Amino acid sequence: MSSFPGKTRHPSDKPQDIVEEEQGLLSGVPVEGAKDEFDTPNSGWSARKIVGTATCFIALLISGAFVRGLLRGPAPPSSHSLWYDGGEILSNGTHDYRRTVLIVSIDGLRADYLDRGLTPNLLHISENGLRAKSMRPIFPTLTFPNHWALMTGLYAESHGIVANNFWDPVLQTTFQYNRIESCWNPNWWYGEPMWETAGKAGLLTANLMWPGPPKTSSGARATYFVPWKDHVPLDEKLDQIVEWIDLPLEERPKLIMAYEPSLDQAGHATGPMSARVNATLAQVDKFAKELQLALHARNLTDIVDIVFVSDHGMTDTSHPELVYMDDILGEKGLKAIEHEDGWPAMGLRFRPETNVTHYLNLLLKAADANPEKFDVYTHETMPRRYHFSNSERIAPVYVVPKIGYVLTTKAEGDVGMSKGNHGYDNNELSMHAMFIAHGPFTTDVKALHQSGGKPGDHWHSTEGNTYIMERFQNVEVYNLVMKLLGIEEFAAPNNGSTGFWDKYL
Ligand SMILES: [Zn+2]
Repeated sequence: MSSFPGKTRHPSDKPQDIVEEEQGLLSGVPVEGAKDEFDTPNSGWSARKIVGTATCFIALLISGAFVRGLLRGPAPPSSHSLWYDGGEILSNGTHDYRRTVLIVSIDGLRADYLDRGLTPNLLHISENGLRAKSMRPIFPTLTFPNHWALMTGLYAESHGIVANNFWDPVLQTTFQYNRIESCWNPNWWYGEPMWETAGKAGLLTANLMWPGPPKTSSGARATYFVPWKDHVPLDEKLDQIVEWIDLPLEERPKLIMAYEPSLDQAGHATGPMSARVNATLAQVDKFAKELQLALHARNLTDIVDIVFVSDHGMTDTSHPELVYMDDILGEKGLKAIEHEDGWPAMGLRFRPETNVTHYLNLLLKAADANPEKFDVYTHETMPRRYHFSNSERIAPVYVVPKIGYVLTTKAEGDVGMSKGNHGYDNNELSMHAMFIAHGPFTTDVKALHQSGGKPGDHWHSTEGNTYIMERFQNVEVYNLVMKLLGIEEFAAPNNGSTGFWDKYL
């Protein structure tokens, strides 16, 4: 039955990624009996901060309960705080605060969803602050590669998460985003996430379900961590964020990350033009409003920088044209494939005895004859703008479909295809993400701009005084957060452009 024997994804089934994203991203995570088997003893600031929390963490997973606040427990101040005191003490009129950054990811919020008239609150926030025309995701335009790019400022070839599912030829095992024993292993995740850098600078951090591991290979963890659980109501997430903001000064996180998947789930299930997407869009917009109101009620809008981002867009795949790999490679060619990564692209690894050149030539010939349907790349020919070649985790042959086309087999057909998908070329506007910011950062930017202090052609203001930045790549976000927290000197090497934010601030 299977025409891809031994491959990562079983072709006779509905593609695993789609099944799980339709049901809810990560809904397949087997939380029952999950063990933090990678939780080896570690030392340093992070370990001290989370003393006693690991047990709670496992208990929470086993119970499957969303127990707010269970995982908190700031430890004694880090020795690094001798170098950085967390910044100037500010006041909201009644309490002391320090500059705080809140970054919220709305999965699958395609940039032009904001033009539908369904997001008055996000637009209102952007009018008071600023937004980008769109934010370009990294390639591949998938959830895990992009959420880790946002955290680390790195392209996939550097941060190691080259797809949601992929084979590592050195480790001789598969990364599976939806299996805790796989995706919580810190050794998959290269680079330094912003919460690790902030921790090194002595700042407390809080992570509400951001896709990624609970700790890095160096042992660093966010101070507060709420692990993934599907279908958590937005008002519970709001309550958790507000609870963190209301903690006493010395326990309060200065960097808060939060994640919401419902819009991506809707996009996959019913397509980007559907009523369900529009209804979900209105819900996440209401969440943005309530978050902003909570900051306003505490007189914190000049103290907290809030940044709304998404990881990628969404395109309609309800009537795709199918490209049959059997027609190109033949039955023998399909059987020669040992591993297949990166749906909806196909990163192909052939069995050791295979004449790879032969099959590569067949693929290249087919791509030449059908340039509108798909591209075929090797590490050597991969477009440089993808920054997607310098890693052994990237399969040596990559077939990348164009929008409107689906790579499949005769056996697989269009069974299980979702109504919406992403993962395509990151230059496609339907793959682009959003970026909206508001807070002291945007106030300063506008003031500088209006005083002529930072003239530039990289953005413009509209009639409504909305400042719209030119498109930029999401690997710039890491450096922005470093700058807003005042911890640039601690920043890890990354792929953000040197001085990118100096154009604005
Ligand atoms: Zn996503």
